[in-house]
Amino acid sequence: MKIAVVGTGYVGLVTGTCFAEVGIDVTCIDIDQKKIDNLRHGILPIYEPGLEEMVSRNVEAGRLHFSTNLGEAIKDCDVAFIAVGTPPGEDGSADLKYVLAVARGIGENMNSYGVIVTKSTVPVGTAAKVRRELEQALGKRGVQIDFDVASNPEFLKEGAAIDDFLKPDRIVVGVSSERAEEVMRKLYKPFLLNGHPIIFMDIPSAEMTKYAANSMLATKISFMNDIANLCEIMGADVNMVRKGIGSDARIGTKFIYPGIGYGGSCFPKDVKALIKTAAENGYDMQVLKAVESVNDAQKEVLFNKVRKHFGGDLKGKKLALWGLSFKPKTDDMREAPSLVIIEKLLAEGCTVSAYDPVAMPEARHTLHDTITYAKDQYDAVIDADALLVVTEWPEFRAPNFEVVARLMKNKVVFDGRNIYEATEMEQAGFAYHCIGIRTHH
Ligand code: NAD
Repeated sequence: MKIAVVGTGYVGLVTGTCFAEVGIDVTCIDIDQKKIDNLRHGILPIYEPGLEEMVSRNVEAGRLHFSTNLGEAIKDCDVAFIAVGTPPGEDGSADLKYVLAVARGIGENMNSYGVIVTKSTVPVGTAAKVRRELEQALGKRGVQIDFDVASNPEFLKEGAAIDDFLKPDRIVVGVSSERAEEVMRKLYKPFLLNGHPIIFMDIPSAEMTKYAANSMLATKISFMNDIANLCEIMGADVNMVRKGIGSDARIGTKFIYPGIGYGGSCFPKDVKALIKTAAENGYDMQVLKAVESVNDAQKEVLFNKVRKHFGGDLKGKKLALWGLSFKPKTDDMREAPSLVIIEKLLAEGCTVSAYDPVAMPEARHTLHDTITYAKDQYDAVIDADALLVVTEWPEFRAPNFEVVARLMKNKVVFDGRNIYEATEMEQAGFAYHCIGIRTHH
């Protein structure tokens, strides 16, 4: 089989590389010439564990190609994936201009039957719009070429993307013809051998599945953050409550960790887009509206604790941040809670020194020189009035607190991810604050 993957970001690059890994001939396409030039030299536009090595292996094997030329790459393809961004428009709905531009480009260049698949997260009804773009483009050329559209939402997690793609919990494919189903089943066959299921459904259901999945996960997070905040007020320990409820199989242990709010490129925008889709169709998503507002407030919880600890006056304080990315094992800074915290700290007249194992170059694009980028986690805390743990990178879990204590000006830790034990921290002489547990300071 021969396929094209259009859009070479987190989703497109992982998708293309994993299909090449199982022996399929893949061309990854992007409009960003620099990205493609870099990829041809083995330089990746993103950080994703294991990806660099897998890309170079498949390029060397001659199965993975990079190009900016959609017209050439699309020729004789069995399947073309659209994996470009769908950022929120001004009103919160998903902006489809990139997806539809690619559909037009495919229609202007395709020369034989193929399945055009939306892998980007797109609202219900998008596949129909993609079909119209293709028909119009083919109409303008005055040619008649058969094609099918399909919806194949992606469920990979940044930081574990390769494993998620190669060993998926499930593959969801929305189709409207048997021919398309056959092509998609053949394409995904290598991933099904170990019992990973593929679920075929109609196209609108597949499109909705992705939004429902992300919205459910965001709901778990906001629900738990709400419970955490109440635990703190009432003198309960949210870590205990989490264990207590997680052992109920109907609830489950995953995704019920309190923290400083969800971020990233998906949950915030997908929750917003689903609320908007519903509103446009006369339905009010009451739960999701609450999920969103709880999350907005939660991104400020750590800052509020810092402010309270210092009696409302933060002017001239030096604060250290451990972690910038929205979660560990990625350099993705989109909608990261760190950005909200830093903005608020700077507005209060603080200086900020941050360390993140991989996200500092990416953070620099947004934060420029408004903060100091430390050379390691210990460098960040030198002379600091307090340390804020923002992202739970593994290397922050068991630091040498004797060194940290020696380097800091004040021994104060605000743990936004509950990775330390309150009693241990207090024994080590730190004033310790975390989420959903009332501590003694
Ligand atoms: P991204 O911003 O990392 O990558 C998008 C790429 O598309 C960019 O490299 C951009 O240059 C390219 N592009 C834009 N217009 C183009 C065009 N006309 N032709 C060719 N290339 C073009 O985005 P992403 O994070 O990979 O997300 C892509 C889609 O997948 C989104 O809809 C997102 O919601 C969804 N998704 C993302 C994740 C994730 O974890 N990042 C997971 C599941 C689904």
